[in-house]
Amino acid sequence: MSAATLTIDLSAVAENTRRFVRAGSPAVLAVVKADGFGHGLADVARTAVANGATWIGVTSVAEGVAVRAAGVTVPVLSWLNPVQVDVPTVLRHRIDLAVPSGRHLAAIVAAEPRHPVRVHLQLDTGMARDGAAPEEWAGLMAAARRAEVAGWVTVVGVMGHLAMADRPGHPGNAQGKSALLRGVALAEQAGLRPTLRHLAATAATLTDPSAHLDLVRIGAGLVGIDPSGSTRLRPSLRLTAPVAQVRRVGAGVGVGYGHTGVTGRPTTLALLPLGYADGLPRSASGRAQVLVRGRRCPVIGVISMDQTVVDVGDVPVEPGDQAVLFGPGRAEPAVEEWAAWAGTIPHEIVTGIGHRVGRSVR
Ligand SMILES: *Cc1c(COP(=O)(O)O)cnc(C)c1O
Repeated sequence: MSAATLTIDLSAVAENTRRFVRAGSPAVLAVVKADGFGHGLADVARTAVANGATWIGVTSVAEGVAVRAAGVTVPVLSWLNPVQVDVPTVLRHRIDLAVPSGRHLAAIVAAEPRHPVRVHLQLDTGMARDGAAPEEWAGLMAAARRAEVAGWVTVVGVMGHLAMADRPGHPGNAQGKSALLRGVALAEQAGLRPTLRHLAATAATLTDPSAHLDLVRIGAGLVGIDPSGSTRLRPSLRLTAPVAQVRRVGAGVGVGYGHTGVTGRPTTLALLPLGYADGLPRSASGRAQVLVRGRRCPVIGVISMDQTVVDVGDVPVEPGDQAVLFGPGRAEPAVEEWAAWAGTIPHEIVTGIGHRVGRSVR
């Protein structure tokens, strides 16, 4: 049994939420996709709402239903739905839907909803990812207006997303913003009256007030990650594991699969009972560090599926000592460091911690 534990600090989520609420944007939508960025969907949703968020954002109706099951009553928006979305469930749980294409809209109409479905027209504002391409906007607006007049939908919002928000000066941001405003103008020309224009996620919210519009969608920022690198937020996770075994070895000893690590001197090796199946990126092997008995010690050899070896030198480590893989403390490795060691972003680290790791919420 791995006794590795992920400790989730909801007071950090609360403080981060309040910071975005205070920043003066008209409304904060708390994004709780991917199990609340690995922090627990229900806990993050409830904490965000208790601290001033007035919307919740998810990527699926199933996640929206989970938000309702957590007792959250504020509006919920789901933005990555299949064409054949479950309209009765959407109505029963009062979930708003992003509509990225005429086909998605037609499927809602074909389901003949008992009440109008609240929709946000989702425009591709420069990512070539989700949302309607610019050449489809006019047709989508016209179809949405017909569906609204017929009583199948109410168009409450127009949304976009920025590809370059973590690079504040990049011209793609201004282009994305003007694209969204062009889309809003088209919607109004089509007779629609969307009151919620939204574009900014964490990075744009922190760096560009002019992108806030009517609603900001904050995910990473709630859990202490700032993709723009402009702002100090409060990290909300600590990952610990007890040392499972300790062995003293001489110099020149190959460690782990392939002997990719070799001891440079007589040293002590401490075994930790978690590996890449628990979310420690294998690509961080040879670079990562862990805090043991207050000291930063390097991981040696390749991170295995369930096990990781740390070279603790002459630090007097005993089985059962708690090693800190990452945490908010001063000496503790940060999630951002793990991301750098693995050549990825912090989001991938926090959303990747596996189900074997115990959760402790405080
Ligand atoms: C994930 C996501 C967000 C949140 O982005 P962060 O950078 O994590 O704040 C906002 N909007 C959309 C459409 C998303 O997919």
